[in-house]
Amino acid sequence: MELIIASGAQWGDEGKGKVSYYLSQFSDVCMRAGGGSNAEATFYHEGKGYHFQMIPSGVVRGKVGMMGDGVLISCDRLMLELRQLEEEFGDISDRFMISGNAHVVLPSHRAKDAFLDQNVLKINTIRQGIGPAMADRAYRVGVNVDTFIRTGGAPEGHDEHWEEREQYVEMLSKYRKNTKRYLAELKKTDKTVLIQGSQAFMLDNVHGTYPYVTSSYTSTAGLLQGAGLPYNTVTRNIGIVKAYPIRFDRTGHLPTECAESDQEVIRNAGNEFAHTSGTPLRIGWLDMVALRYAQDINHYTEFFFTKIDVLSELKEIPVCIGYRYHGKTIDTCYEWSNMDLSEYEPVYKVLKGWQRPIRGIQDFMELPVEARDYVAFLEDQVGVRVSLIGTGPKDDEVIVR
Ligand code: GDP
Repeated sequence: MELIIASGAQWGDEGKGKVSYYLSQFSDVCMRAGGGSNAEATFYHEGKGYHFQMIPSGVVRGKVGMMGDGVLISCDRLMLELRQLEEEFGDISDRFMISGNAHVVLPSHRAKDAFLDQNVLKINTIRQGIGPAMADRAYRVGVNVDTFIRTGGAPEGHDEHWEEREQYVEMLSKYRKNTKRYLAELKKTDKTVLIQGSQAFMLDNVHGTYPYVTSSYTSTAGLLQGAGLPYNTVTRNIGIVKAYPIRFDRTGHLPTECAESDQEVIRNAGNEFAHTSGTPLRIGWLDMVALRYAQDINHYTEFFFTKIDVLSELKEIPVCIGYRYHGKTIDTCYEWSNMDLSEYEPVYKVLKGWQRPIRGIQDFMELPVEARDYVAFLEDQVGVRVSLIGTGPKDDEVIVR
């Protein structure tokens, strides 16, 4: 078996939907291994746009889709996406499977999420109930798919008000498969599995910018844990890096957050607004210190560099190569949790912009020299080869190197 992992190396929204869709052409099984409906994946298939929060992108290509053990299932969202797929492609129950050990997000989890975020956390979570469902899982009072089915959607000790309960039991029963056995059999073959990451490394609950993180484990190791696959099955560990990092929340660390006037230019060119609420996202300059940290923990084999086309208007592009910290310049940082941002001042190298459109370019040598330099600078600074570059949202707007 070959295993490709594709996960965000920054704070999210790196373009995982499109990247996973692109990589699914080389895969037999496309899998989610963690997180839940708090993930968003936007991509195009044969000219049509898709927006999924649960189902891995490759399913629209006819690939096998799997929701692994580490996933949290939001039944309403999953049902919506399954209905859409069934309308377009007919019955997919022979190629879509859900682990009995994945956990179900209950209505009370959503209510608790909203309450906690409003009154205690105040970190602007997406309020999908993912955090409380993960917490219940850790407390050992969570409800997994098998328990949900066995109790007819009315698990003991959970007094849930859920009108659609029967429909959800029916849906989960239809797709529940022995995914562990399936993967064990797959290991004996030369088939390729693709893990589509959700959220991104710097939001990892353990290694990210705690407390401004997600509740799940988004590192390479965390994804392997959620998938139940051993580390030595990994053949490609692809870090997805966006040409400018963003943050969805209003308060978490983004050391290279740029001036509002620059953010506005990039935001409008890259349409950096939250999908559901339309809230403007926070934008920063490419941060080599954060990427070196991501590389140190995850050992990516390569980068998929996305959205460089969005920077085409800029005359100059500052890139953070270090931080001034207590009078010294540091190029690595291992103190991300509870970081006091006032103590870290980004040090920038200003690169020349290319100031001409590059959208849709598929040949690296057709990129303006300044854009090629931008890619080379990233490779040199972090020590990871950029093997793929996104030059637009469409599936064929990719440079393969
Ligand atoms: P995720 O949160 O990482 O899964 O990000 P999404 O899949 O939601 O992608 C964010 C947006 O970026 C979507 O609208 C994609 O169509 C778009 N996108 C992805 N790659 C590129 C790219 O290389 N260039 C441009 N301009 N847009 C891209």
